[in-house]
Amino acid sequence: MTNPSTDTKPTIGFVGIGNMGWPMAACLTRHGYPLQLADARRVQAENFVQQVGGFAAESLTALAAASDVVITMLPTSKNVGDALAEGTDNLLAGLRPGSLVIDMTSGMPAATQELAKRVAEAGSVMIDAPVSGGVPRAKSGELAIMVGGDPDAVNRARPVLNAMGSTILLCGAVGAGQAMKALNNLVSAGGFLIGIEALLIGQKFGLDPGLMTDVLNVSTGMNNSSQKKFRQFVLSRGFNSGFSLDLMVKDIGIATAMGRDSGVPAPFAALCREMWASAAAALGPGQDHTAVAKFSELLAGFELETE
Ligand code: NAD
Repeated sequence: MTNPSTDTKPTIGFVGIGNMGWPMAACLTRHGYPLQLADARRVQAENFVQQVGGFAAESLTALAAASDVVITMLPTSKNVGDALAEGTDNLLAGLRPGSLVIDMTSGMPAATQELAKRVAEAGSVMIDAPVSGGVPRAKSGELAIMVGGDPDAVNRARPVLNAMGSTILLCGAVGAGQAMKALNNLVSAGGFLIGIEALLIGQKFGLDPGLMTDVLNVSTGMNNSSQKKFRQFVLSRGFNSGFSLDLMVKDIGIATAMGRDSGVPAPFAALCREMWASAAAALGPGQDHTAVAKFSELLAGFELETE
């Protein structure tokens, strides 16, 4: 039997079938949304169609022309700008008047505000809706989604966002969701590093880092990294959370640039950015963000080990 709700649901064009885009698009399929898919690595879209469903669009222009809602889930705002407006094949060339563009990338607020103007000139509306929760919550459809944009457009987006997230928070005008997301990741990145340094100090003293993680998790030192990353990805030596080191450095850079531009002194944040950027330079490309612990280990001269 076909899903009766499918006919009435808007078609969604999903651009960026990566670590996050894949499970998010899969949630939309589960909720009965017809999907058009595109990725710079075409094989990603083709694999998704084979394994999950939907149609692989012939081009970005064709994807936009076939969609009521276009979602971008790309690494950076530069990628979003390229997909929207660069070259001969782009989304703007195909956007239906009155369609809705939802940029779910953790992007740069100022760049998104500029792109939103261009989308408005083309007769459509763009909001930003970056996410938090990582690959596990993208799979379960329980992301936290931070939204910036015109409230009417955000209300139009709500049913679509509800298919991917369990918490939808309106943060302000377009760009505000991405500003919030960058600041969230600054806090998350700081919590990760300070926790790893504590584990290293503790191990040198004679404490077991696994036990320390358990103690932190029932104490006031608990944070998202102690709960969801230290045992799972660092002490296991898996370093495979599905969120790259380069993307985390990008997010911290957005947050510290916001601080600089607004004249707010943030020396602790600047040191945090320096540490993460140094780790990325020292460890090289293709690293998971949890591998930043290896940089702290390099500085300490020994590795974390647990019983
Ligand atoms: P990813 O690198 O796994 O996937 C990005 C996809 O976009 C790739 O498949 C790539 O081929 C495609 N792409 C790049 N440029 C393109 C273009 N111009 N046109 C079409 N496709 C293009 O990245 P990800 O981990 O899925 O992250 C996506 C965004 O979500 C980033 O902004 C990231 O910071 C954010 N984010 C990631 C996580 C996570 O846990 N991975 C969590 C929250 C937010």
